[in-house]
Amino acid sequence: SKQVYQFNEGQASMRDLLGGKGANLAEMTRLGLPVPPGFTITTEACIEYLENGKTISTELKKEIERHLVLLEDQEGKKFGSSEELLLISVRSGSKYSMPGMMDTILNLGLNDESVKVLAKMTNNEVFAYDCYRRLIQMFGNVVYGIDGQQFESLLDFYKSKYRVKQDSDLTSDQLKDIVEDFKRVYLENKRQPFPQDPKEQLLQAVEAVFSSWNNERAFVYRNLHNIDHFIGTAVNIQAMVFGNSGNESGTGVVFSRHPATGEKELFGEYLINAQGEDVVAGIRTPQSIHQLKKDLPECYDELNRLVNLLETHYLDMQDIEFTIDNKKLYLLQTRNGKRTAKSAVKIAVDMVSERLITKEEAIMMIRPESIVSLLYPVFDEKALAEATLISDKGLPASPGSATGKVYFDADSAKAAAASGEKVVLIRQETSPEDIGGMVVSEAIVTSRGGMTSHAAVVARGMGTCCVAGCSELEVNELVKQVTFPGGVIKEGDVVSVDGSVGALYVGAIAQNVAEQDENLEMILKWSRELARLEVRMNAETVNDIQTGLDFHASGIGLIRTEHMFFAPERLKEMRRFILADTFDERKMALKTILMYQIQDFKQIFATIGEKPGVIRLLDPPLHEFVPSNEKEFAKIAQDLNVPVEKIASKVNELHEINPMLGHRGCRLAVTYPELYIMQAEAIIKSIIALKKEKGIIVEPEIMIPLVGTTKELTLLKEKIVNYVDQLLNEEQCQVVYTIGTMIEIPRACFIADQIAESAEFLSFGTNDLTQLTFGYSRDDAGKFIHQYLEEGILMDDPFQTIDLEGVGELVQTAVVRARKTRPAIKIGVCGELGGDPRSIDFFNRIGLDYVSCSPFRLPIAYIAAARSQI
Ligand code: ADP
Ligand code: MG
Ligand code: MG
Repeated sequence: SKQVYQFNEGQASMRDLLGGKGANLAEMTRLGLPVPPGFTITTEACIEYLENGKTISTELKKEIERHLVLLEDQEGKKFGSSEELLLISVRSGSKYSMPGMMDTILNLGLNDESVKVLAKMTNNEVFAYDCYRRLIQMFGNVVYGIDGQQFESLLDFYKSKYRVKQDSDLTSDQLKDIVEDFKRVYLENKRQPFPQDPKEQLLQAVEAVFSSWNNERAFVYRNLHNIDHFIGTAVNIQAMVFGNSGNESGTGVVFSRHPATGEKELFGEYLINAQGEDVVAGIRTPQSIHQLKKDLPECYDELNRLVNLLETHYLDMQDIEFTIDNKKLYLLQTRNGKRTAKSAVKIAVDMVSERLITKEEAIMMIRPESIVSLLYPVFDEKALAEATLISDKGLPASPGSATGKVYFDADSAKAAAASGEKVVLIRQETSPEDIGGMVVSEAIVTSRGGMTSHAAVVARGMGTCCVAGCSELEVNELVKQVTFPGGVIKEGDVVSVDGSVGALYVGAIAQNVAEQDENLEMILKWSRELARLEVRMNAETVNDIQTGLDFHASGIGLIRTEHMFFAPERLKEMRRFILADTFDERKMALKTILMYQIQDFKQIFATIGEKPGVIRLLDPPLHEFVPSNEKEFAKIAQDLNVPVEKIASKVNELHEINPMLGHRGCRLAVTYPELYIMQAEAIIKSIIALKKEKGIIVEPEIMIPLVGTTKELTLLKEKIVNYVDQLLNEEQCQVVYTIGTMIEIPRACFIADQIAESAEFLSFGTNDLTQLTFGYSRDDAGKFIHQYLEEGILMDDPFQTIDLEGVGELVQTAVVRARKTRPAIKIGVCGELGGDPRSIDFFNRIGLDYVSCSPFRLPIAYIAAARSQI
């Protein structure tokens, strides 16, 4: 089948086959935009190459040659010829944009002879030899992994020797010497001379791009972004245009809207007389795109026009690479631009008001997880005013604020983060090799590079706070210290970083809750309108409940009553209960706890008002309430006036080999029904009191956890109902309450039809359900899950996103069976997965009534619920 497509044969929809870059180059060609011609070798060819023991088939070779001839005809030039010389770039490009993860080679086709031709053709020796030295460097680095630093330090050596600041200030003789030196570096490393045959250069480059799909950096990036490891990359071969051919040439990057603020204005950077990645590499400090209006006004106007055209065509903010070759503008790449969350919500809302897109499309532009950074705290103003500034001369590359200990290389950062430290990574500049260290950092700081530098782009993508190009910092990565005008920072020192303004401070700074963002409010309002699924919160403290209400929670999906047992005075009574020998003694202890619980529930219900709330009755095993440390025994003995031996023997008695599979949840209540009865009494009494005092009508949903057999539920339900009804009778009151259960044991999923005969609602406890389905202890799985993910045994951590094949199947089975018995039964989800966008999509599709998550995740959950519905 066809393995190579000319740019004019493809289109934007062919991303799978042509990669994102190739598909968009084809689309721009189709739109008649000024794109240098070329062709794309498909991702399928890449997979075939990697699977065929890394050899290029003869057919593919032939197809490439045929397209090369077509390209030569189009350009009226010849590859490797001695006259009208055609040079090409070889560019990787997979389906998903993977910035800097795989490399590009420019100026391919040059050799010792043709460099002279190029010099003559352009009447510009400096330019020709600059191209040649770049080729040797990029080819050596990309194809044979020769450390780019070896070339860079030679370049630095020449620049300081001849006292010039910029690469572009070197003379042709100096560049000729550099070329010779570069070839020597190449020879020393590779033990073979730099290949002089252009076709050989091309094939080697193509193979290198194919192989780079499997390099470490690419692998880490794909894991981080959940990208399939088996989709391969396409290779784009394109006629070169030259931004380094003089002062009426240049190269740059431009965004159709501001990637940090979302303002509708051109934003970008460029360099006159420069090539390729000079702008993003952070070697020379680029100029703002607005300067181009003065440097080359026609090119600026044309660029402006094309950028708008592309945005209206793609209906999304575009990130565009361009090159100007002797005043002629070319487009080399366009893609949907990466942006901060703040910018993303503004662009989405603005594009709706500009009538470019619908509300639904706007919501589809917001990745739910990405808004986390908008909800994060910012530095407290007062604390900030008192903090010692290190520098505020950095670029605000990615917003947010963070405090952490300073590390200067990815490995130390990783080690520190693994031991639980909060890390700030400071480097001169970052490169793709640093990705592992960047992922674990709270903040990233660089002393060089612009807003589109590697550090800035990657940090924005990850939602990590970043200050880039802070030139007041002198970073010495070897000695592991930074000098700044006011002092020195060493490894391990604590600093605070503000990525929204580009500043660094000494020490930790207190933080406040994030400011309101009106665009986010709008997206959330639309999301709530469009979502079918309700979103509740998991909360039991007044503060958390208030936060959840501010985020429009429709109720509480999980009130964990055991959280109320740990305050010292209550713990004491709980221990009294545990140590009691007789039913009467236990009853006495519970009486005191009852008083506390009534107060607790009154507060909770008074805060949520008449919104629904699910109260889970006591769930953990009793040993969680007694100390494991013998030193505390004496104190407790004294407090409760019992002998120490008694405590020791009770602790011993409660000890379980597998506590999570032990005497907990409803099993505990089967042994001690008075526990649940006390809790039910507290719930009902608090509601009666609230009704009298404030006129609030609460209809509680009482949930019995860890049910695995129907009998457990019917037995406990009967006891609770009998008690409560008698209580209501005595009090001459009416309270509408329901009793339901948590579905968290696989067996319960299969008998959900029986369970639903007595349960009046269900809620999936996804943490336990996942733990029990996989047989992974959720407290210990951390030890091996990482390896499982790396080796592809698991695609995702099932505690973070639902395992559709196993856990999902169980959930769906339970829903179908429960609804057979009780069609209108209310079914929800509590637990981590209730706040995970991909899981929410599943829960929505199988028709659950609500999900419940921690208060700060509500906005994310609403967006996910809306997206699932669209
Ligand atoms: P990346 O995916 O890292 O951005 P690219 O393939 O886009 O890699 O190329 C790296 C740089 O080289 C970019 O600045 C791009 O604009 C430039 N470039 C690529 N092909 C050409 C070409 N044919 N002529 C001039 N510059 C090119
Ligand atoms: Mg690159
Ligand atoms: Mg690019």
